[in-house]
Amino acid sequence: MNRLCDFKEEINKCSKCGLCQSVCPVYKITGNECAVSRGKFVMLDGVVKGDLKLNENVNKYLDMCLKCGKCSRFCPSSIDVCNIFETAKYEYAKNTILGKLIFFIESKFVFGNFLKIFKRKSHIKKGQGLKLIYFKGCVNNIFPQKNNILNEIPDIEIIERDFDCCGQPFLSSGNLERFEEVKNKNLSLLDCEFDYILTNCASCESTLKKYIDAKFINLGELLVKKDMKFKFDKPIKVTFHKPCHLENDNFIEPLLKNCENIEYIKMDNYDDCCGFAGEFAIKNSKISNEIAKKKAANIINTKADYVITVCPACIIGLKKGLIGIKNAPKVLSLSEFLAFGKFSK
Ligand code: SF4
Ligand code: SF4
Repeated sequence: MNRLCDFKEEINKCSKCGLCQSVCPVYKITGNECAVSRGKFVMLDGVVKGDLKLNENVNKYLDMCLKCGKCSRFCPSSIDVCNIFETAKYEYAKNTILGKLIFFIESKFVFGNFLKIFKRKSHIKKGQGLKLIYFKGCVNNIFPQKNNILNEIPDIEIIERDFDCCGQPFLSSGNLERFEEVKNKNLSLLDCEFDYILTNCASCESTLKKYIDAKFINLGELLVKKDMKFKFDKPIKVTFHKPCHLENDNFIEPLLKNCENIEYIKMDNYDDCCGFAGEFAIKNSKISNEIAKKKAANIINTKADYVITVCPACIIGLKKGLIGIKNAPKVLSLSEFLAFGKFSK
């Protein structure tokens, strides 16, 4: 496991160009230099040199981050921003009472056993064809769908394993030890040949990609690959929110084109963050609400009946932004939405 001082050179790669300010959702709302990666690197450089203590104040700014990775993708120095923030967070949290309490709640004993209550056998037909290891994700375990769309896709073989959480919540809280634990368990379960790891959550997929070197496919991509067609009973207007952790959304337009009676309306800034990001929304509720409200305004402008997305955390964020708005569109996951339509072959 890396220590913050191991990132000394990486932190120094920051040229202070300030380009991250133009993409950081938190900076756009707050205008606070410490909210964006450049400012955080100035502080962490001080910590690594021993000029500054990794104290509550520094931690407050570490928490003022959605871990959306937008700054990383835009950074001319290609700095792995989130990795550095997570390591700094770990070094701070492991020595505080609150940090220790959060790490206990996230432990295998508490969080792991809690998830076990919800794990049940899915009713997925075992077919033959493209071999897919299905990483269902915690939220899809807790809220299983009644009509599992996977049963309708021809020529696929779904392989299920008793995976642990992908680890994203532990990275956010700086619980790197627990992250290592779930990472090792998940890696040990990839014990057979397969064509793709199938996911149904953008955050899970992006986290798994940090430690699994394999081919991934998400449900939307799979439906396009299989040229699946859907028929809805009446005309419906739909808009799409692209989660920050979704690498590629090339599937959404072709998929919706294959849906009879669906009109897709692209919202302005459809890839802007929803403002949720788990504990960020608790620790920075005012900023989170403002980001969510901006998103909600763009959704409302489309006059869509439904807003769909592919990340359970974004669903909460989008719903939060739309609270109190009359006749607001319904927020659904892509798979829940498609389950309304009939498969047409
Ligand atoms: S974009 Fe990268 S190099 Fe430029 S200020 Fe931000 S973190 Fe530093
Ligand atoms: S990860 Fe996102 S919220 Fe955090 S500093 Fe980068 S752009 Fe801002």
